[in-house]
Amino acid sequence: MKEVLIIVDMQRGFLEPGRPLYCGDEVRERVIPKVVDLAERKLKKGAQLIFTQDSHEPEDPEFKMWPPHCIRGTEEEEIIPELSGFPGIRVKKRRYSAFYGTDLDRILEELEPDLVTVAGVCTDICVLYTVADLRNRDYQVQVYADCVDSFDREAHEFMLRHMEKVLGVKVLR
Ligand SMILES: [Zn+2]
Repeated sequence: MKEVLIIVDMQRGFLEPGRPLYCGDEVRERVIPKVVDLAERKLKKGAQLIFTQDSHEPEDPEFKMWPPHCIRGTEEEEIIPELSGFPGIRVKKRRYSAFYGTDLDRILEELEPDLVTVAGVCTDICVLYTVADLRNRDYQVQVYADCVDSFDREAHEFMLRHMEKVLGVKVLR
């Protein structure tokens, strides 16, 4: 069985204290060890890892909604040091979905995965829209509830149920 693990936006801009869109200490302490462990397990099983990175131009219209973050070429754009050494394909994106304006479609068409596991942050934003676009393309998707996280815990729980009931994702708790 061919497996892909997509690790969404595990970047310094979201997981390092003091950054404008820092997810918070609780998320940081909770999710990083879980995702590192998952990445190790999936690599041992021969899965292809794909890391998405939020990557914006300085004048991105997204900054009308959010403070400027993860600008191309800055430290914030980098994968966190706990994961940066892992082998994998890097996909830089400028919208919530990792498919929008990227090569992800073509990459997955070549890999032809039987199962795609999605991990990372935030459950209710970039994870959600990437998962939805995977399901629109009929990929089998699974999510470990403790390998995704959000600064908004209520939204995290709601979106896990939404993924399960509406998008047909296998949510493992
Ligand atoms: Zn962004």
